[in-house]
Amino acid sequence: MFKSIPLATALILSSSSVFAAEQPNWASCVVELQQKAKNEGLSQQTIDSTLANVKYVPRVIELDNKQPEFSQSFENYFTKRVTDWRVAQGRKLYKEHKVLLDKLAKQYGVPPQYLLAFWGLETNFGSYKGKMPVLDSLATLACDPRRSSYFTQELMQALKLKERYSFATSDMVGSWAGAMGHTQFMPSAYAKYAVDGDGDGKADLWNSTEDALTSAAHFLQNLGWKRNERWGREVTLPKDFSYEYLGKAQAQPLTRWAELGITQTSGSPLSTPDMQAALYLPSGHTGPAFLGYDNFDVIMRWNRSTFYAIAVGHLADRINGGVALKVAPPEMPSLSRARVKELQIQLNDRGYDVGKPDGILGANSVKGLQAYQRSQGLVADGYPDEATFKSLGVK
Ligand code: CA
Repeated sequence: MFKSIPLATALILSSSSVFAAEQPNWASCVVELQQKAKNEGLSQQTIDSTLANVKYVPRVIELDNKQPEFSQSFENYFTKRVTDWRVAQGRKLYKEHKVLLDKLAKQYGVPPQYLLAFWGLETNFGSYKGKMPVLDSLATLACDPRRSSYFTQELMQALKLKERYSFATSDMVGSWAGAMGHTQFMPSAYAKYAVDGDGDGKADLWNSTEDALTSAAHFLQNLGWKRNERWGREVTLPKDFSYEYLGKAQAQPLTRWAELGITQTSGSPLSTPDMQAALYLPSGHTGPAFLGYDNFDVIMRWNRSTFYAIAVGHLADRINGGVALKVAPPEMPSLSRARVKELQIQLNDRGYDVGKPDGILGANSVKGLQAYQRSQGLVADGYPDEATFKSLGVK
């Protein structure tokens, strides 16, 4: 759940990934963190038992710096996450935790299949919760200049959690970025939204499934989850669809989508309340199309990735008895950053302002790409397929 930080953006700023194994200012930084903790009201005992022995972990910086040369295709992402095993496991766990999940649905408005889907995607239903010592990871990131203030805050929250619940430092393990427990809560979310679901006096997101699921429901409610609404759905586009509106910035009422000829994959008309929905084509026009409703945006607040939101939504549907995607995600070549960067340069040269070329297809790039494709009579889906690369002279 750490990914709500614009990681890609932050990573571009560090052009070099060569980091010394030892951080030169580590010792003085730890002293500053100790002072900060004191100012935040943490007890000397907590500080001594944590920040006095905290360790710099070069691996954390390495992982934080990892800048993939290729962006993963939707097919690759999706098929690894929405698997038959996870669907079956989700259904099995629903039976196992039915009383709790039904209670949470009533209390927080989040249906069981969604909680199971988040749980499945975050930690494979608790089977992999991460083993990195959270306090070391957070201190390491707090002492790295790039996002120091964010991780310093998270570290302070983690220390407060330790103090509040008397957690042993060695039990506070998680992802390299400090996300913890069954549903990978960052410390600030843990502090704010974790709930003691089983009533033992402690919100323990590592060891209590009941606490973890209750906390996830509570968090989603606070992120704005709309009771009785779906996440969105896979849809069928009519032939010769114009792709006039694409992505969150161009959300339209469902009635408008229906007018444009979009239907459910069964062929049934969209139910047409005055709900806003955004169209997503994660593999371009040859792949599946999705409309994302308000709850799609809620999932994006948990993890700002459209791939993630589609995977959570679809896995939830499958767990709830739904069928596989009607259009299987096509295998697409991985896009190298260098190639996308060249494409951005070519678009800029032709007057489609996509901003500074960075090799990442953001909203501006998609918009510029669409305008270019339209001008050339190509399918204007904002996806850089081979025809588009060829037309722009990008090898
Ligand atoms: Ca508890």
